[in-house]
This record gives sequence, C-alpha cells and structure tokens, in this order.
Amino acid sequence: MKRVLTGRFMHETNTFSVQKTDMALWRRRDFHRDNEIPAAFRGTRSALGATFEAAEKYGWTVIHPISANANPSGIVTDGAFDEIGGMMLKSAREQQPIDGVLLHLHGAMVVESHEDGEGELLARLRHILGPDVPIVVTLDLHANVTQAMADNASALIAFRTYPHIDQYERAWQGAELLERAMNGEVKPKTVIARRPMIYGLDRGRTQKGPMADLIARGEALENSGEALVVSVCAGFSRANIRDVGPSVTVTFDELAAPATTAPPARETAEGFMDYAWQTREYESFKLLSVAEAVARCKAGKPGDKPLVVADYTDNPGGGGYGDATAFLKALVEAGVERVAFHAICDPEAVAEGMRAGVGVKTTIAIGGKTDPRMGGGPLSLTGEVTHLSNGKFIAYGPMGGGVERDYGPSMVFRVGGIEIICISNNGQAVDLGQFTSMGIDPTRYTTVCVKSMQHFRAAFEPVAREVILVDTGALCSEIYTPELFDKVRRPVWPLDEIE
Ligand SMILES: [Zn+2]
Repeated sequence: MKRVLTGRFMHETNTFSVQKTDMALWRRRDFHRDNEIPAAFRGTRSALGATFEAAEKYGWTVIHPISANANPSGIVTDGAFDEIGGMMLKSAREQQPIDGVLLHLHGAMVVESHEDGEGELLARLRHILGPDVPIVVTLDLHANVTQAMADNASALIAFRTYPHIDQYERAWQGAELLERAMNGEVKPKTVIARRPMIYGLDRGRTQKGPMADLIARGEALENSGEALVVSVCAGFSRANIRDVGPSVTVTFDELAAPATTAPPARETAEGFMDYAWQTREYESFKLLSVAEAVARCKAGKPGDKPLVVADYTDNPGGGGYGDATAFLKALVEAGVERVAFHAICDPEAVAEGMRAGVGVKTTIAIGGKTDPRMGGGPLSLTGEVTHLSNGKFIAYGPMGGGVERDYGPSMVFRVGGIEIICISNNGQAVDLGQFTSMGIDPTRYTTVCVKSMQHFRAAFEPVAREVILVDTGALCSEIYTPELFDKVRRPVWPLDEIE
C-alpha cells in the first residue's frame, strides 16, 4: 500500500495589511487536525474531498496532519508558519516511508522571515524526503510562483477558473499524476518562466482574454501529451515582495525527455509569458466611484431583480479588512431602500447587538475600526437588531459546496431600508448561504452589496439583474507606486518603463 502525505496550508498574504496572521487567526477559520480532516471534507467538492476519493480508488494510506486555510490577511508570523508547517514536516520525518505527497497550497504566503513561504516549506520537505519522492502541489491561480517552488515540487497544478470552482478537479488531476509518478510511469519535473511585471493576465479572470487564451493553449498541450501540466498563474499583486507577479510553469516527464531535453518545456513557458507580457495592459473590469454606484442603486425599482454591487477594494478575499464603511455610509445618507449588505466584519458591534437582543432598537458604532484610513472609520448607526446567529452553515456552492462555513457570531442590523449583516470572522461573499443563513433571501432585494473582486460572481451573478464593481478606497485599491513596492525586483512594470 502506498503511503501518501497530504494536507492543506493556504494563505494569500496582503503585505500592506496591519493584521499579522498569527495562530489565533489561523485557528479562527477552516483549521482541522488529524482525524477531524476526513470528517470535514470527505464527500465535499473540495481539494481534500477529491484527495480522499483518489486515495480510495488507488488504495493509498493517507497521512493528513493538518488542513489550515486562513482568510487572506497580513504577513504570517514565524511562529504560525513553524507550527503549521512543522506539523507537515514532522509527519514527513516520522511517518516514513512516504511514497508521495499531494499538498494543497495557495502560493502567495509571505512569512516574517520568508518572503516565499511555500518555497521555504517545499524546500524543507524536499530536504527530508530526498530527490526521488514525487511532490505534487495544487495552487491558487493567484499564486506568486517562485523558482524555489518550481525546483522543490515535482509538479505545480494551478486552478483554471476564477471564481475558483475547479479545486476538486485540479486535486484529482494531481492525484492521477501522483499515482503515475509513484508507479514509475512518469517522472515529473517543472520549469518556470516569468517577466518583469507586478500584475497582468487581467488579474486572473478566466471568462475571456489572455488568461483564458493561455489556459486553453496549456490544456491542448496536456491533451496532446506534450506536457504533463501547464499552469498559468496571474499572481497576487497586493504583495510587496521580490517575486510578485504572473508566471507560467510547465511540468514535463523526465523519463520521456531526459533533463537535456528540458528546453522544449522552457520554450513553451517562455512563449506563454511573452503573450502575458504583450497583453499586460488588458483589463476587463471597470471600477465605479462611490457616487456613481449609489446612483445606480437608487435607480432600482421595487420588484426588480437585485443589482449586485461588489466593493472591490475591501475584498476580504484579497486581505481587505471587511470593515470599510465608505459605501455603507453613502447608502445610508442617500436613503437607499431594499438593500441587503454583506458585510461589516466587527466582532465588537456583533457583541453589542447580542447584548441588545433581537427586536431592540439601539445605536451601535459599526466597522472602520481596523484602519480607518482604508475605506472609512466607524459609523454610528441607530437601527434594530433583527437576527442573531453563530455564523455557521453548510455552503450551497458552487465554490466548496457541502463544506461548513463559519463566520463567527453574526447579526443583522436594520437601518432604514438597509439590512446590514455583521460578522466576526472575516470572509468575502461567495455563497448565497451567507445571506439565507441570516434570514435574508437576497433575490428579494433591489440591491445586494457584497465585498469581493470576482469570486462572488459564481453564486451571485445568476440571481443579479446586473453586476457592478465599486472602488471605496479600501486596502485592495489598485495603487502601484515605488514607495509601496520597494522590495520588488527592478526594473518592473508598471513602476518602470520597459521596452
Ligand atoms: Zn485566487
């Protein structure tokens, strides 16, 4: 029986956030150990759900010390990195023999002492297991992929959808490749190409444009057998690190093509990145000002399907604090009605609402407490607490359907015609259950506000009459200056003019 080490250690680090990601933040969301892991993920459309199914099919004994997926936030503390990474490394050392590894990482983790958290983790793992054990890694397509990651993993398999609805399929692809590698049928090796650019590929949007083009070209190469895997990553641009930016990795079979013939794989990767470079200015999204967005909300009539307004810049999925108030303030001041608003992350406000109780009118200072410079300070609002919850529910999907989500103690605070959902565990809007679990049917509102850049579309676009994006000046604003990005390799676009 083959012994496979698996696990999940995912973080997208926004280095501009003032919130350090310590163990308390890791434990707050989606943190499971040992035997809790199959109980939480078996039968779900998640990466670990697929991993357990594959283990059953191939008869693997699975070693699963940890599954940790913190909400995007600030730099990860050394203590948290060593503790969680240490669980994986300890299993690798003490549960020998290990025949193969299938890890689910994000690929944009910045740790206090390591700008490239995943590269460091994979290097340590490779050191323990030696050069011959296949290590297959799934990544988010917003990974900032580095040479160290490509060198120490055997294969890197990035998501191909944004919203990311193919985590399950990518994990299965990884499992199939790992099985072939453990059987000695293939020996996967990975090369990487990059360009001097902080962002590009339309920030990873896969509906159309250069990202979609490259993914299609990569899949054609996989299907024809010219490459084992082609992964296109848009990178995560809210990271002031040397290696921020898009990349393409090509995994080839060293048995079929000995190391001396790696050049074709490298040529493919470079060719793909030439295209990413040429199309770097392509953007399919447009951000409205707060005033423009409020005017659109006011234009809605009773009975209209919802206008879905996404606060792009306070996206908790990009490290935003989720407590920016600028847009909510504008809606309240404009007296907009029939609005469902998700969400303000503010545990103190929820605690006050819980002390007041359902049905009670009260005045609460809501949001804006983490860093008032980023999208507005606290709003003192008088309203009625209409719903209280522990914040837990089972997701509908399509992202992670069947998995329990936990937003911590939560309330609905009704102010005029606006139902404001307040949560305690930060997270972007990706699932209709984030409203329905709070007693709100979003399809019955003229305006639905969410905080998200793109992931909300999978669940919310189908119920929307239209989708718009708004820039509220919060943490994820698309601002690129040499001062903010002083650790990035130079020259780099768009900070420098490059031919
Ligand atoms: Zn992503």
